Amino acid sequence: MIRSNAEELLRSNIGRFVDSELIPKAQEIDARGEFPMEMFKKIGDMGVFGIRYPKNKGGSGGNTTLFCIICEEIARGLMSMGAITAMQCLMGTNFLFHYGTDEMRERYFLPAMKGEKVACFCLTEPEAGSDLGNVSTIARKTADGYVINGMKTWVTNGPVADFYTVLCQTDPEKKFRGLNFFFIPRQTPGVSVSKPFDLLGTRTTLISELAFSDVKIPHHHMLGAEGLGMDNLLSILSEIRTMTAALAVGLQRAALEDSIRYAHERAQFGKTIANYQLIQAKIANMAVNLEASRLMTYKAAKMIDNKIQCLKEASMAKYFATEGACKAGDEVTRIFGAYGYSMEYSAQRYYRDNRFLLYGGGTHEILQPNIAKWVGL
Ligand SMILES: Cc1cc2nc3c(=O)[nH]c(=O)nc-3n(C[C@H](O)[C@H](O)[C@H](O)COP(=O)(O)OP(=O)(O)OC[C@H]3O[C@@H](n4cnc5c(N)ncnc54)[C@H](O)[C@@H]3O)c2cc1C
Repeated sequence: MIRSNAEELLRSNIGRFVDSELIPKAQEIDARGEFPMEMFKKIGDMGVFGIRYPKNKGGSGGNTTLFCIICEEIARGLMSMGAITAMQCLMGTNFLFHYGTDEMRERYFLPAMKGEKVACFCLTEPEAGSDLGNVSTIARKTADGYVINGMKTWVTNGPVADFYTVLCQTDPEKKFRGLNFFFIPRQTPGVSVSKPFDLLGTRTTLISELAFSDVKIPHHHMLGAEGLGMDNLLSILSEIRTMTAALAVGLQRAALEDSIRYAHERAQFGKTIANYQLIQAKIANMAVNLEASRLMTYKAAKMIDNKIQCLKEASMAKYFATEGACKAGDEVTRIFGAYGYSMEYSAQRYYRDNRFLLYGGGTHEILQPNIAKWVGL
């Protein structure tokens, strides 16, 4: 893939960090199942979290392509860390950056860019998953501000986040036009956080429920103009899907690289398993899926950078790259034989962690009918 000098430089810098610092600790971090604060701070120190934001406002002055390179590289090392990074760079801080006050940016956004505060993004509710029109966390307007009541679930970083960007309904009669984002600091009275969920994969990405009981916030904590919450969410949807595709590319690379290495090492019937055509077929298919996923992902990223509408391309990339990651996670555990079933090797982690990619930014059952519609059905 042809890349600019800036893109290649970032890839080699982050790649070196992933090879030397993240991969050697990935198994241990995953097994511990705690928020990887030390690694999070290291990544913050590298200026990674500000990649999408301008330099004169506390960011690192990059673009979506560079953001995707970071996501891909970090997910290659550990999917949980890729997911946490993506949350901090995009969904968790985007609305605060664009619609927060200077004081909120100073107290929360700038420390988040340095890895000193953790961000999260709260859309999903027990009765509102794919169907966000059903969000029932209510923000009632009063003379002093808003009073928020309701519950969010499946909040990535929920147990450790310092502030929340929360989708609330201000007027159920207005349906989608009543949906708005609010900024809620963790210490606000009335906020409670559940215990972390017990997860199948990405076990160091802590996820919980959040409950809001008569949580009072001032008027200026509404992030964005009233009635435009869903429009503002749509404005980053292509980027969310493209970023997810980049995470999937990272996992595919990790699974492929481990598969190739193991195929050269493992000998059966007097020769390495790399000699067997069925192993070669698996590896060839993984490589082809990876290449196609990468091209689709960075095509969408370039379109975003060039301000070209690309929800179709981003959705296709997310769908294809994630399915590729699921397939790669399956194949690597077969190539490893019994060792693919052992918690000692990373193959099992790719098999579990690929599931993370299936849900956020739209499930595939939501994406597929949309793709079909966009191509003419
Ligand atoms: C690891 C992980 C991290 C997450 N992090 C966050 C987070 O940080 N913040 C947040 O807000 N949410 C988060 N989520 C929640 C995620 O966004 C939801 O899981 C997703 O929106 C789907 O909602 P649901 O799980 O309730 O599934 P449902 O919407 O209940 O869907 C159940 C099944 O029905 C299918 N389905 C639903 N509607 C249709 C339809 N119209 N046509 C065809 N099929 C349909 C779905 O594809 C799925 O297969 C996370 C989830 C996971 C697993």
